[in-house]
Amino acid sequence: MGSIFCVANQKGGVGKTTTTVNLAAGLAKVGKRVLLVDLDPQGNATMGSGVDKRTLETTVYDVLLESATVVEARTHSPQGGYDVVGANRELAGAEVELVQLERRDKRLRTALHAVRADYDFVLVDCPPSLSLLTLNGLAGAHGVVVPMQCEYFALEGLSDLVNTIKQVHANLNPDLLIIGILRVMFDARITLQQQVSEQLKAHFGDKVFDTVIPRNVRLAEAPSYGVPGVVFDPASKGAQAFVEFAREMVERLDRMPARARAA
Ligand code: ADP
Ligand code: MG
Repeated sequence: MGSIFCVANQKGGVGKTTTTVNLAAGLAKVGKRVLLVDLDPQGNATMGSGVDKRTLETTVYDVLLESATVVEARTHSPQGGYDVVGANRELAGAEVELVQLERRDKRLRTALHAVRADYDFVLVDCPPSLSLLTLNGLAGAHGVVVPMQCEYFALEGLSDLVNTIKQVHANLNPDLLIIGILRVMFDARITLQQQVSEQLKAHFGDKVFDTVIPRNVRLAEAPSYGVPGVVFDPASKGAQAFVEFAREMVERLDRMPARARAA
């Protein structure tokens, strides 16, 4: 039975999609069965996995509105080596439609739990907000992976996310844990980044992943080819860091409470 993880941070452009796509490809590379779920109407994780969002007939929108199951909606990333439930602009409307529906925040949870046996990892790429879509992601997950850039305001934003996670934990999903904080787009030459990184470790301790993802142009180039960076240029520093991160996730999962592991 696979574990379900959300990649979340309410800020845009902090590396959520890059993390989700490359963690998925990294886990596939080390032999894990992976499903990536794109929960952002921008559909960047879908396109970055080599799946054309414009021609998709069934997406996560249909799964949320329960007009399709995950089995019906999933497709395969040929280059990434993992399955994808894609998203496109249609998903932006789901927010409004869901508000009126029952179990509006638990629909993804129900859908994903039905396919857990098919995967070792299910990774959900969240939109840059703490919206009903993100809530669906958090309500259905065992844990949250938080990518962050080591910049001055990053710590401030983190406390909003931590509060939301606490609320979801208390009201919707007692299983939810913060798995870890991933430092991304890191540049060790910048003193401020090192300082924020140290503050992070002082404050969050071993919740901060050991792996650090460097700023690497190959990771930024890969999406335009519809190939995860890990596959696009396996020798690049960014690709190697994400494979290392995939290994760290596997190890961290082994040390997590049983409820988050193969059950
Ligand atoms: P989010 O999903 O949080 O909005 P993205 O993953 O789309 O963030 O990243 C924002 C931008 O930064 C994208 O253009 C992406 O290619 C680039 N980027 C992300 N991570 C890295 C990295 N480690 N090195 C270089 N560019 C990166
Ligand atoms: Mg994104």
